[in-house]
Amino acid sequence: EIKKINRLEADKKQTIMGIVVSAEYKYYGRRRILEVAVSDNTAIITAKWFKGRMSYLTGIFKKGTKVIFTGNVTSNYLQKIMIHPDYEIMDENDSDNLLNFRRIVPVYSETEGLHQKYIRKIAFHALENYARYVVSPLPADICRKRLLPGIHEALLSVHFPENDKNPDEYNSIRSEAHRRLIYDEFFFFQLGMAVKKTGRILDRGIAFSIGKNSLLSQYYKLLPFTLTIAQKRVIAEIQNDMAKTTAMNRLLQGDVGSGKTIVAMSAMVTACNNGYQAALMAPTEILAKQHYRNISGWAQAIGLKAVLLTGAMNTAEKKETLNLINTGNADIIIGTHALIQEDVNFHKLGFVVVDEQHRFGVLQRAVLRNKGINADVLVMTATPIPRTLSLTVYGDLDVSVIDEMPPGKLPVSTLVMAENRRDKVYQMIAAELEKGNQAFIVYPLVEQSETLDLKDATNMAEHLQNDVFPDYKLGLIHGRMKDKEKESVMNDFQENKINILVATTVIEVGIDIPRASLMVIEHAERFGLSQLHQLRGRVGRREIPSTCILLADYARSDISRRRLKVMEKTGDGFLLAEEDLAIRGPGDFLGTRQSGLPDFRIASIIRDARILNEAREDAFSLVAADPLLERPEHLLLRETLIWKWQGKLDLARIG
Ligand code: ADP
Ligand code: MG
Repeated sequence: EIKKINRLEADKKQTIMGIVVSAEYKYYGRRRILEVAVSDNTAIITAKWFKGRMSYLTGIFKKGTKVIFTGNVTSNYLQKIMIHPDYEIMDENDSDNLLNFRRIVPVYSETEGLHQKYIRKIAFHALENYARYVVSPLPADICRKRLLPGIHEALLSVHFPENDKNPDEYNSIRSEAHRRLIYDEFFFFQLGMAVKKTGRILDRGIAFSIGKNSLLSQYYKLLPFTLTIAQKRVIAEIQNDMAKTTAMNRLLQGDVGSGKTIVAMSAMVTACNNGYQAALMAPTEILAKQHYRNISGWAQAIGLKAVLLTGAMNTAEKKETLNLINTGNADIIIGTHALIQEDVNFHKLGFVVVDEQHRFGVLQRAVLRNKGINADVLVMTATPIPRTLSLTVYGDLDVSVIDEMPPGKLPVSTLVMAENRRDKVYQMIAAELEKGNQAFIVYPLVEQSETLDLKDATNMAEHLQNDVFPDYKLGLIHGRMKDKEKESVMNDFQENKINILVATTVIEVGIDIPRASLMVIEHAERFGLSQLHQLRGRVGRREIPSTCILLADYARSDISRRRLKVMEKTGDGFLLAEEDLAIRGPGDFLGTRQSGLPDFRIASIIRDARILNEAREDAFSLVAADPLLERPEHLLLRETLIWKWQGKLDLARIG
C-alpha cells in the first residue's frame, strides 16, 4: 500500500512513491550522510544513508527520478525521515511496477545474486505464459465435492494473491489456493497407494491351506504359555489373508514385548506346512541372530530346518547356506539385508516377514517379495506409528495391532531425575547390581563432540568403571564398533558376564536381556519420546520389577521436563508417538529419509492432516469404482499417476 507523504504515521513501516527533488551529501563533523529528498506533491520526505555504497546511490537517485521507498518513518521538527529505506527506481514504462507494488507480493527465499524483485518477475512471467497449460486431471466431481478452486486460479493465487485476500492465510499456508495444491499432492500420493493396494488384491497370491496345519499345532505345543487374545486375533487375521488367492501385505504393529515373534513364527510354520519356504529379514546382525536362536530351536523340534544368512559370514559358510536355500533344504531363512542380494535364490519362497520395517525402504520390501512367487508379506514394527502417519507411509498395507501385553509382564516404572541427583542414580544402579541384576546406561553420543557439550559413552564408560563401579564389570557398545565386537559384547551382557552395559542407541531394537532390570538414559531430553519408549522396552522383559531413569538437564520450568514427564505417566507407545509427532514432525519421527515417506513439496502430514484424510477417502473410493483406472475420463489421471510415481509404483498391469 502506497501512502501519501503527508499522511505518514510516525514509527511505522510504510511505503511512499514520489520524485527525487534533491540528492546530496551533508557533512556533520567528519560524518558524511547521503540525503535524498522526495516529494509526492503532498509533502517531502528525506531518506538518509550513513553507510553503504553511497557513490552507487548518488548515481541512481537523480533529480526527477521516480522512486519508491519502504521503511520506518520518523520525524523531527523539520523533516519526515526514513533511514536506509528499501528502494525501487520506477521506470514509467516498466510493466514490472505492477508486480511489486499496490498488491500482496510473494516473498521467495533468495539465493545469492538473485533478488526478490527478479525472482518475482520470473515467477510472474512463468505463470502468465504457462499456467494456462497446466491441466489438472483431478475429476470434476471431486473438485465440486471438496469445493476446490481451479488449478490455474490456485497457482496464480499462491504466488500473487488477489488484493482482497488475507495475507495471513497465505503466510500460514492455509489459503484456499494452498488447499487446492495440497489436496492435489496428497490425492496423487493416496491414489498411488490405492492402486498398489487394489493391485495387490488383483495380484494372484498363494492360497495356503490352513485347515490341516499339523506343524502349527505341534509348534503351539512347544510354547510354555498360552497365546494372548490379541495374538490369537492377529494370527487369525494373517491366516485368513494367507488362505486367500490374492497376495497378502500386512503390517503388524505391536509394542516391544507384545509377542510379535510368536505370531510371525506361526505364519512361517503355516507356509512350511504347505511346502513353501519362509524368510525373515531383520535390520541388524544382532537381531537376525536373536531371531535365529529363538526360531531354530522351535523349527528343529517340529522337523523344519532354519538357517541364518548374514553379510558377516565367511565364504564357505555362505556358500553352504546359499545352497541349502537354493535346493529347498532350508525351510525357514533368517537374515539381514544379505537376503536381498542377487546371489540368493530361493527354491520356493512363499512367505516373507520383514522385521522393524521402518529401517527398510519400501523398495527393499518389494525386492524380497519378488524373490518368491507371489509371496505373502508380513511387515512387523515395534514403533507405534500414529494413524495419520501410517496412512501415509503404509497406506497400501492392511494393519493388525497387538494391543495387549502377555500376562506377567510388569510395567517398567519410569523416573525423570535431574542432574543434581546423579549420586542417587548411582546408588540405585549399585542396589540393582547387588541383586545380581544388570543395568544399561545409554548416551546420545559415542565420543566427545566439539560442538555439543554432552556426556558421551566412551568417556563415561571409562569414568564409571574406574571411579564409580570399580568392583563391577562394565561393557561398552556403540555403532562405530565392528559387528563382531558388538556381537561379543552383547553376548557377554546376555550371559551376565558384564554387569553394566554403557551404550548408544544401537541397543534400540528388539534385543532380549533377561536380567536387565534398570536403564539409565543420560541427556534424555535429547531423545524423542518414541525412541525413549523403545529403549525402555529393553528392560522389564522378565518378571522382575524394572526401572527406567531419565536423567536430564533442564531448568525447572523447561518444556523438555514436561515432555519427559509424559514418560512417567504412560507406557502406551501409541500415545507417546502421537506426542512425538506433534512436537517433532514426521521427518524426525521416522528418523530417516528412506523411511518411505515422500517429500511433499507443499503439503505437510501434520498441518494438513484433515486434507490428507479427504484426499485418501476420495482416492480410495475412486479406485474402488475403477480399479485399473480404465474409464476414459480417468485416462489423464492414470497418465499423471504413472508420471508422478515414476517406477515406484508397480503399475505394469495398468501402464
Ligand atoms: P516382540 O518381538 O513383540 O518384542 P517377543 O515376540 O520377542 O516380543 O516376545 C517377548 C517375550 O514375551 C518373549 O520372551 C516371549 O517368549 C514372551 N511371550 C510372547 N507371547 C507370550 C504369551 N502369550 N504369554 C507369555 N509370554 C509370551
Ligand atoms: Mg521382536
